[in-house]
Amino acid sequence: MGREVEELKRQIPLLDYLQRSNWTARRRAARQEFVGLCPLHQETRPSFYVNARKNLFYCHGCGQGGDLIRFIQLSLHLSFRESLVHLRQHLALATCCPLLEQAARFYRLELHRHPEAVEYLALRGVREAALIEELGLGYAPGGNLPRHLAALGYPLELLLEAGLIGQQGRETFCRRIIFPCRQQGQLVNLYGRSIGAAFPHRLLPHSKGGLFGWESVAQFSTVILVEGLFDLAVLWQAGFRNTTCAIGTHLTPAQFAELGDRPGRQVYIAFDQDENQAGQQAARALARRLNTAGSTARIVPLPVGHDPNSYFVAGATAADFVRCLDQAQPPRP
Ligand SMILES: [Zn+2]
Repeated sequence: MGREVEELKRQIPLLDYLQRSNWTARRRAARQEFVGLCPLHQETRPSFYVNARKNLFYCHGCGQGGDLIRFIQLSLHLSFRESLVHLRQHLALATCCPLLEQAARFYRLELHRHPEAVEYLALRGVREAALIEELGLGYAPGGNLPRHLAALGYPLELLLEAGLIGQQGRETFCRRIIFPCRQQGQLVNLYGRSIGAAFPHRLLPHSKGGLFGWESVAQFSTVILVEGLFDLAVLWQAGFRNTTCAIGTHLTPAQFAELGDRPGRQVYIAFDQDENQAGQQAARALARRLNTAGSTARIVPLPVGHDPNSYFVAGATAADFVRCLDQAQPPRP
């Protein structure tokens, strides 16, 4: 374990990690020392120091200090083991990222070449060209991605490593609408929604990343959390830009930490109102955890059998959804 930790710290220098997370710093004189605003506490005057040679940080404001692992633990509220997992994924991703970008680009171009894909989007209530563009939506017809990527110089082994193809060489995404999932601008995964009979949801075998669209949603003191990306798409389209999505009802520790990264944030949970109550049970459990962690969580009631997507597709307007938000209740103890 000790050797692996040292190896990870060598492969991902603390300063690189911080700068890739948009930490801006100024170099102190000729020394290997950098200073900037502390990412761990609110401040207006820089007191967060990084020694690039020693690969360590110290903040004179909040008194926190240590190495990269310690920084991950503090900033993402992860355990030591979870931090190692996070860093391993970070590293794996750095290799796969350009490839995923190329795949997402390819899928984007395919979208408008396949009428069945655009028809499916319309069926799910996603119509605005600007939104489709902003979300970077694409379509995987299946059958031609490996050839396209090979022509760009990517060997099959790399596609396999990235999870774009399986052991038998078959494409992971076939007849699926593709949503690129980004974190701090970096592509971390692709979500594919089947437009046919195949199992509806599919992600590449990587971390699902943070909350979807969190960069633009984090600024809101009130956020709406939904289960699916099509829920998010129709809500963004209807003007609810404070909507985010965990892709499923289970939040990773990093996603949970994001929701709570602003004290007193109000979280409206709008999960599926399905017959078997699975969505509502998950919503109640999550709301209780959020409330314990210092947020104010409410559960949004939707008409039975609906999720936000099907509700809008069935003709609901933004005003109808506002009425649902108004009826949201804290979880019963
Ligand atoms: Zn600090």
